[in-house]
Amino acid sequence: MTEVPTIELNNGVEMPTIGFGVFQTPPDETAVAVESALRIGYRHIDTAAAYLNERGVGDAIVRAGIDRDDVFVETKVWITDYGYDETLHAFDKSAGKLGVERIDLLILHQALPGEFDRTLGAYRALETLLTDGKVRAIGVSNFMVEHLDRLISETSVVPAVNQIEVHPYFQQPAVQAADAGHGILTQAWSPIGGITFYRDGNSSSTLENPTIAGIASTHGKSPAQVMLRWHVQQGRSAIPKSTNPARIAENFDVFDFELGHDELAAIDALDTGHRGGPEPEVITLETFGMAIPEA
Ligand code: NDP
Repeated sequence: MTEVPTIELNNGVEMPTIGFGVFQTPPDETAVAVESALRIGYRHIDTAAAYLNERGVGDAIVRAGIDRDDVFVETKVWITDYGYDETLHAFDKSAGKLGVERIDLLILHQALPGEFDRTLGAYRALETLLTDGKVRAIGVSNFMVEHLDRLISETSVVPAVNQIEVHPYFQQPAVQAADAGHGILTQAWSPIGGITFYRDGNSSSTLENPTIAGIASTHGKSPAQVMLRWHVQQGRSAIPKSTNPARIAENFDVFDFELGHDELAAIDALDTGHRGGPEPEVITLETFGMAIPEA
């Protein structure tokens, strides 16, 4: 099998650049999709407690017969489990469902801007888990510039990763610059446009964008492959999701071509400034709280 390209995190841990996302993958289809991804060559899976499919990820690793140490497992703590003690317990819940002793990358799924002390408590629990060797790296998701600044000024470990919405139509340059300034890796969610998510009503799907389609035809690649290659060349991790075996394979086959400077710039120019996902500033326990089951 070809070697899987990796990115070094700020604590020296190596993470495969392209991971496999499972948001909106139904729990009963997750093991099949993840097993298919592992057989194709993916060695990095991105799930979350709130996706309710961590068990399927763990089952797939066993079913694929891959050594646990050869798969990079990333999951997220949901906001209902924020607070120091609650987040320590959230690790037990996720590790139990995943069937692993240690999680490679554990991140906070969202900031709780109105209850930032609770967010800080959760992050301090991640720091303890890191010290105790229960996780290999820690990070955040959907943290905006001010959330990062506050977190970093009040805690000890700079996050290894900030997983945020990045695709050609929404690129968050200010957050990406803040990540880079702090030595945090930007990881792109909805990296090919989050087909089921991106709905501003004004743009066609990124998959149908003529600029991206033109670049794709020049290289004999698909639009999805061009978008993933754009992330890779700009130094981001990306975690495309699919439940279709052909598309799972297509999304991993992005390491044998190179986009030119003008092509990268043409994709950069597609940013609309409109996010597809929820506005991070309005996340509250009242609107987004949900109980995460025990393992
Ligand atoms: P993606 O950009 O990965 O797009 C997924 C969609 O595109 C699905 O509808 C999929 O359908 C389709 N698709 C996949 N590959 C192709 C292809 N080659 N050609 C055409 N269509 C394709 O968006 P997601 O929103 O799923 O994000 C990816 C991952 O990011 C999630 O699974 C999750 O792990 C993470 N995420 C994190 C969030 C956060 O808040 N931290 C929020 C949202 C996502 P099909 O399955 O039928 O192939």
